[in-house]
Amino acid sequence: MSTLDTKVVAITGASSGIGAATAWELATRGASVVLGARRTDRLESLVARIRAEGGRAEMLAVDVTRRADLEALVALAVDRFGRLDVLVGNAGVARIAPMAALDVDDWNAMIDVNLRGVLHGIAAALPVFRRQGRGHFVTTISTAGLRIVPTQAVYAGTKNAVRTLLEALRQESTDGTLRTTSISPGYVHTELVDHLDDPGQRAEAQQAMAALGISPDAVARAIAFAIEQPDDVEIGDITLRPARQG
Ligand code: NDP
Repeated sequence: MSTLDTKVVAITGASSGIGAATAWELATRGASVVLGARRTDRLESLVARIRAEGGRAEMLAVDVTRRADLEALVALAVDRFGRLDVLVGNAGVARIAPMAALDVDDWNAMIDVNLRGVLHGIAAALPVFRRQGRGHFVTTISTAGLRIVPTQAVYAGTKNAVRTLLEALRQESTDGTLRTTSISPGYVHTELVDHLDDPGQRAEAQQAMAALGISPDAVARAIAFAIEQPDDVEIGDITLRPARQG
């Protein structure tokens, strides 16, 4: 039995890309997964695929900008599987523009999903982790937060803010009951940039993703590695990027 067999893992942004790949990787290796996102049709088919392979999966419509949705996701895990071992705060959006463009709605959208969404997850799961005497927060941040690129200021800012949150949580919880892991991927070939509004910018970003991006499965394997460690081992940070990325 792998250590993943005993884990109950909730994942936000599980309807596509890294979140969906992580759900599949963990579930096919024995974990019980609880999936949240807004596109429930995608979640339903992923849950059906996992169950068809003999895996354990549940799903819920979750908008991470709503605190109550995260509470419901955590409650679903506890209700169906008796506890929650890991929350993967993965839901995210990316918008690209110089700050001078003053795309304030886009700034707010990134703050709401990438930062506030993770905080809502922490607020929902932390009391459960404390009660259980054990828990693990994993978040998908980004190399964009490590190597600052013009046009990605707010995106990188949200990711660095999440890095700070997890480090603070780690320092506040050195009794060994809470683990935190920040995953920083470089280019990963997903739908992330399909949601850019500007058609020219979207096409350019899609091309770069297709040419350079690694598979979301690689990120899923990194997340699995962090989760499957023994309770007294914390993988704090993992950076993974295409070998050809600058
Ligand atoms: P995708 O666009 O494929 O996935 C994004 C996920 O976030 C979707 O499942 C989407 O689900 C979910 N999401 C967006 N808004 C909300 C919301 N309000 N509430 C709940 N879920 C939401 O892209 P990726 O898989 O690439 O992105 C996953 C994470 O990885 C993000 O945090 C991203 O910033 C990060 N990342 C991605 C990189 C890349 O190159 N692709 C590089 C570094 C980091 P739905 O729309 O159904 O709600």
